Amino acid sequence: MSLRAVPPHPARRAVIVGSGISGLAAALTLHRAGWQTLIVERAPERRTGGYWVRFSGPGYAAADRLGILDALPKRAASGARLFEMGPSGRIRPGFPIPESAEGTPLRILLRSDLERVLYDAVSDLVEIRYGVGPAAISQDRHEVTVMMTDGSVERADLLIGADGIHSTVRSLVYGPEDLYRKDFDHAVAACIFDRELPGVSGGDALIATAPGRSAWINTYVGHPPVAFLLYRTPWPAAEVRRDPAEALREAFSGFGGTVMPTMLDAMERSESVVFDQVSQIHINRWSQGRVVLLGDAAWCMSLYSGQGAGMGIAGAEALSRALDEHGQVSAALGAWERELRPVIARFQKQAHVMQHLFMPVNRVGYVARRTAMRVVSIPAVSKIAALTMR
Ligand SMILES: Cc1cc2nc3c(=O)[nH]c(=O)nc-3n(C[C@H](O)[C@H](O)[C@H](O)COP(=O)(O)OP(=O)(O)OC[C@H]3O[C@@H](n4cnc5c(N)ncnc54)[C@H](O)[C@@H]3O)c2cc1C
Repeated sequence: MSLRAVPPHPARRAVIVGSGISGLAAALTLHRAGWQTLIVERAPERRTGGYWVRFSGPGYAAADRLGILDALPKRAASGARLFEMGPSGRIRPGFPIPESAEGTPLRILLRSDLERVLYDAVSDLVEIRYGVGPAAISQDRHEVTVMMTDGSVERADLLIGADGIHSTVRSLVYGPEDLYRKDFDHAVAACIFDRELPGVSGGDALIATAPGRSAWINTYVGHPPVAFLLYRTPWPAAEVRRDPAEALREAFSGFGGTVMPTMLDAMERSESVVFDQVSQIHINRWSQGRVVLLGDAAWCMSLYSGQGAGMGIAGAEALSRALDEHGQVSAALGAWERELRPVIARFQKQAHVMQHLFMPVNRVGYVARRTAMRVVSIPAVSKIAALTMR
């Protein structure tokens, strides 16, 4: 009697919607756990633009375990400083940007740095289909079926919605976004400058503040500066439907000096302006059957948490681990959510405190912030501040 090789247990299959940080991290970690994965991405090609990302905490630790840290560029020279500018246009002495946060080193990066490194790690291993997304989703006990916008049909053991704050997977499975989105009364615009800005470089940041408004210029080693502008507006949803150039010129009028006009001109010239509300996503369960949400689609914490990119990676790593440890998808998704929810809840809460660091929301906040910055910019105090921000 000849012994026939027993066919290997067929690899489990996941369809991942979205090739942002969370989707790519999920593809990498699931591939390593033996899954077959397909990424579908709505954009016609890989995104390269992006904005400032502080990378620290659980995401940093996960990136270390995944072995991708060394491939990330060093975008800030040691001793990089944050300078503050008031409405008059006068720039005050800055203080050092802390070199660690949330229990790990703090890296100043671009979102595109993280996406590129993750893309390089998966592009030869995982199929990525551009220009397509889900149109309809159905599932039973055994599989999930996705009808795509190009008419193709995909079947899988798991569908991962890593398609960002305005997730289509979430809308198709959970209902309209409005049910889950909590808005700050803030709008944010971000863009990459097409040239260096005189006087600020090497990882230094400059923040121009006035009550209810702030504009950040972040510089990098080997990359043009990136700006993001934040302002309060009573109707953020309507505001972000306006022409960004016009809305921003109106919101940031009245600043003295040359920095603000330079920033607004750069915004106007840029072809990649992100203009959106500042919001969080709160949803009481991140999975339904064989569909799971990941990253901003599940728990967007807003830019104020400084942890959105990192938790996309940490969340993906934890998801793959849970799927590896639990035979059943439903048990794995339950265990994963129990592990991650307290961390996400803490960062979502923290974002409400951190918003004041990003922008003085009113006149009282502005005066308090200006006083704090004056104290912190005294050299001895700045050293203590950097230590306490770890
Ligand atoms: C100005 C700004 C500053 C920030 N600063 C920080 C920071 O300092 N630190 C930090 O950790 N985080 C920061 N964040 C947040 C962080 O960038 C996000 O949390 C993170 O990028 C989310 O990644 P994601 O992959 O979950 O979603 P996304 O980056 O939104 O990716 C979603 C992907 O899905 C695709 N997609 C969308 N819809 C569909 C569809 N229907 N079909 C197929 N594909 C689809 C999109 O094209 C995109 O490629 C900041 C955000 C902003 C706006």
